[in-house]
Amino acid sequence: MSNEIIVKGNPNISNIALTFDDGPGRVTPYVLDVLRKYGVKATFFCLGSCIEKRITIQEYTGRYTAGSDIVKRANDEGHLIAVHSYDHLALPGLNDDEILNNSLFRTKNIITDLIGKTPVYVRPPYGSVDNRVNSIIKELGLKTILWSCHSADSSTEPDVIPGGSLKYKYGPVDIYNNIMRNAGNGSIILCHDGHSGAYDANFGIVSALDRAIPELQKKEFKFVTIDELLATGNYVICNL
Ligand SMILES: [Zn+2]
Repeated sequence: MSNEIIVKGNPNISNIALTFDDGPGRVTPYVLDVLRKYGVKATFFCLGSCIEKRITIQEYTGRYTAGSDIVKRANDEGHLIAVHSYDHLALPGLNDDEILNNSLFRTKNIITDLIGKTPVYVRPPYGSVDNRVNSIIKELGLKTILWSCHSADSSTEPDVIPGGSLKYKYGPVDIYNNIMRNAGNGSIILCHDGHSGAYDANFGIVSALDRAIPELQKKEFKFVTIDELLATGNYVICNL
């Protein structure tokens, strides 16, 4: 039997899971600050290569921090750390050994060594998964998590700004609207705190969340980690 692919939590319970892909990166500390401000726990699908990176925090002073320190902070603050992959390659294009060892097992080990907890969840890059990839994921004891609501924070314009930054399509107001339009019972919301391991995430996600979180809390939604979201059962799966 193949591994279940989960796209949404229980549609009858007012829980929402915020999820962040492609970090740790420069945006992550700001995301963590906003989550802390509202007492919200989230799930971070990390790239192994970013955990091993030095990340510039202040451009002009050259201050940097280790990606691993950012993930440790997220873990210490009660967030759930999960696997995205090592370097954001689409898994269906890789051979079994590359998927198993170079990408998933490697990242799972980096996280386990860092925080002393073995990750349970994986989100394949681009949400790209087939039966072969999914059975390798199962072999590793991981569960596949996709999403039901996209903040569209990672959508880009075709041109890259000279100097190597991306031109993001949506600012904070659009991202806020995307979240508010689509969030509901059991939502798994896709956000980013990095971009493919190569670029900074869209900083617009930070102020979008600073507005969306308290408004959803006012509507009695509770923000939970993927663990808690699935604990109530009755989650929604998709078939390949
Ligand atoms: Zn990604």
